[in-house]
Amino acid sequence: MAAGDVLFAAGDVTYDLFVVLAGEVRIIERHGQPGETVITKYGRSQFLGEIGLLTGQRAYLSAVVSTAGRVLRVPVEQVRLVMAQELSLSELILRTFLLRHSILTGLGSGLTLIGSRFDPGTRRLLEVLARNRLASRWLELEGSPDAEAMLRELDVPVRDLPIVVVPGGPLLRNPGSRELLDALGLSGPGDTDPSGACDLLVVGAGPAGPAAAVYGASEGMATVLAEDTALGGQAGTSSRIENYLGFPAGLSGEELAARAALQAQKFGVRIKLAAKAVSLSSEAGVHRVRFDDAEAITAKSVIIATGARYNRLDRLAEFEGVGVYYAATQMEAQACRARPVVIVGGGNSAGQAALFLSRSSSEVHVIIRGETLETSMSRYLIDQIERDPRIIVTRRTQIIALLGKDQLDGVELLDASRQQTSALAVCGLFVFIGAQPSTQWLAGQLAEDTHGFLLTGGNIPQAQLDDADRIPLFLETSRPGVFAVGDVRSRSVKRAATAIGEGSMAVRLVFERLQATGTAVADPPRVGGDGRNAT
Ligand SMILES: Cc1cc2nc3c(=O)[nH]c(=O)nc-3n(C[C@H](O)[C@H](O)[C@H](O)COP(=O)(O)OP(=O)(O)OC[C@H]3O[C@@H](n4cnc5c(N)ncnc54)[C@H](O)[C@@H]3O)c2cc1C
Repeated sequence: MAAGDVLFAAGDVTYDLFVVLAGEVRIIERHGQPGETVITKYGRSQFLGEIGLLTGQRAYLSAVVSTAGRVLRVPVEQVRLVMAQELSLSELILRTFLLRHSILTGLGSGLTLIGSRFDPGTRRLLEVLARNRLASRWLELEGSPDAEAMLRELDVPVRDLPIVVVPGGPLLRNPGSRELLDALGLSGPGDTDPSGACDLLVVGAGPAGPAAAVYGASEGMATVLAEDTALGGQAGTSSRIENYLGFPAGLSGEELAARAALQAQKFGVRIKLAAKAVSLSSEAGVHRVRFDDAEAITAKSVIIATGARYNRLDRLAEFEGVGVYYAATQMEAQACRARPVVIVGGGNSAGQAALFLSRSSSEVHVIIRGETLETSMSRYLIDQIERDPRIIVTRRTQIIALLGKDQLDGVELLDASRQQTSALAVCGLFVFIGAQPSTQWLAGQLAEDTHGFLLTGGNIPQAQLDDADRIPLFLETSRPGVFAVGDVRSRSVKRAATAIGEGSMAVRLVFERLQATGTAVADPPRVGGDGRNAT
């Protein structure tokens, strides 16, 4: 390679893994444009790339040779193959890519969103960027000279905002999430609707959905996994899951999602992203799920893994994404860096958020209505909170008002026991109170409990079964061949490990149902006489 050679450029649809054998390569933002910035350089024995190389995201930085030398070029398909076979190399590459992605996110590299904090379109896009963990920066129309300068440079009128600028790619005007992910090459292959029914359609890609899809595909089923927002679901918004077996140091939701995506790709699961299921219909044992992009997928069996969503408060909508948050990931931490924040809620997610934010915010206030955290939070989190001098827990207190005109400056608190109000200056309010099941799209067709969670197996009243002659399998809903797993299921334990366990277990039951109806495509996973897996 000669100095000046471009190994990959911003906008390239895919790029390969390069290992530098001799010489030096620079990673450059805005290569050849005004504001060109060198992000980093790599020398002998170092490899290039970040997680987007594996997820299929278009390159948003350029790699340019600065000192002549030699590189080893490994095609991305080959990288995937090696990662599926070589455990230690796979770990090294994955961890390095995730770390680099996190650094790039901190730097605000990648996409540029320009929009007003008062525009719901901007707030929607902020959420899409955050949930998909896309490295990006937001130039706020109000008060950012860079925003005005960039709009002039791009010749975009303010009425067209919000816009997303994709390095080396198109300029998107108020894009929907599908359009945005399409432009980044992330929405998955367009062939998710093969002619004829697929064996298994999994709706929802939190931890439960990918677990079901990986097991289904690994057992030879033609499997499609469809997701509305982003891989990882609620777990994807978790800064550190500490109680998932096998990861003593904990693992971030981002890492869990990345690992799940790689595994799903390895077994040939077809992933359809930015696809919100809007209806389910069934006829003669075949199910049809329609999506908000007007596509429909027919399947012999369906696993519903649409989980739950934290309650959003309408009265906070004005500040959503710009002061009021429902997740605490690096994106949100970045927005509140070195300033005080307040968290409402006393569950594990609130505890995790407090510990995560205390690393970057000056003070973290946790507000709870009750007397103690002990009734709602795991002991391991309470212990860490008590040891953290930056976290202040305020009991028997509620937030009764938000303060600030154009941005959140603080909250007003009511101490219930003394009936006293006080103001607390914060730049971020994090809300983790109660979750609702994501079942609206089913329009009440399947049996639910009083809170809307899906009933399965023996918990379904006989009168609510679609087919009264059939005993539903454990995890099967009131409709034969349609299963529910994870948080969306009534009486499930709302934890990542259980969601994953149920997702995997459901596949065995899917086989059983397909066999009973004579539509099985492959032999079911073998099971010993005592119910244990014999393989
Ligand atoms: C901040 C936070 C921290 C947590 N920490 C821990 C922890 O440390 N340990 C632990 O065990 N658990 C933890 N949990 C709980 C754990 O994340 C959940 O129990 C788990 O994610 C449930 O998985 P799931 O796949 O059933 O559902 P979800 O994670 O809710 O995923 C459901 C998915 O379905 C998608 N979806 C919804 N509707 C549709 C539709 N109509 N069409 C297509 N897709 C749809 C959603 O976008 C979502 O991605 C935490 C939760 C949160 C919010």
